[in-house]
Amino acid sequence: MKLRKVTLASAAALALALTATACGSGDKDDAAGGGGKKITIGIKIDQPGIGLKTPDGKYTGFDVDVAKYIAKELGYDEKNIVFKETKSADRETAISRGDVKFIAASYSINDERLQKVDFAGPYLLAHQDILVRADDDSIKSPEDLNEKKLCSVVGSTSAKNVKEKLAPKAELQTYGGYSECLTGLENKAIDALTTDDSILAGFASQQQFQGKFKLAGFKMSNENYGIGLKKGDADLKKKIDAALTKMVSDGAWDAAVKANFGPANYKNEQAPKIGDVVK
Ligand code: GLU
Repeated sequence: MKLRKVTLASAAALALALTATACGSGDKDDAAGGGGKKITIGIKIDQPGIGLKTPDGKYTGFDVDVAKYIAKELGYDEKNIVFKETKSADRETAISRGDVKFIAASYSINDERLQKVDFAGPYLLAHQDILVRADDDSIKSPEDLNEKKLCSVVGSTSAKNVKEKLAPKAELQTYGGYSECLTGLENKAIDALTTDDSILAGFASQQQFQGKFKLAGFKMSNENYGIGLKKGDADLKKKIDAALTKMVSDGAWDAAVKANFGPANYKNEQAPKIGDVVK
């Protein structure tokens, strides 16, 4: 009986020692490690087809599939991924503070953001467009937006483009997330929602909005989606670039496009080359 106790105690000590070894540096997230360690990834949770948290707590969308693929290549089990919402305006801060290891959240690469964070990729090329009510034919060109009530999201390239370039005289309302603009569009409090066509297509195809909205088809900008990561982390950037390259070459990128953009009938551009940012 006594012997058995000792054996159990030794086993416990051994288990502890093994855990300590596996934990290495003791970081919560560790891109070099893997094993049982967790990785926190920033995503959107209200953009169908891109990043969406479903009522049963699951995460779906193209960005989610890309994030899972990268995590796997970095050595993490899918069960060890912790998804964390990163709204458009919070992304640079979440990265700098180390709240997330990387971000896959319709995150366009641009010079302003490159001052604060680095990007792997790009992994998708989208374009800014507008979503209007299906019976509204009054907006024939981007200039027509100058007379309209527009909705977009704070901290996004979409809101910035409207204010600085596309329609400086538009009455722009900015919210925390795009989904918040949809009620306003439906009840005519706003005339149009503007952001990437990839996001708008996902909203338009939702069951509850069927036949209510349409995309104008204006390609008002190039939005090169990149994976945001801590500035100066060249090793992580290299690993993520390699993961993205593999995702395209082994067909997983195409499969993710089909699964997530197919239902929205979104005509995506072909896979971009790593480092090839379209201005
Ligand atoms: N891709 C644009 C951006 O990074 C708009 C979408 C978003 O807000 O996530 O700002």
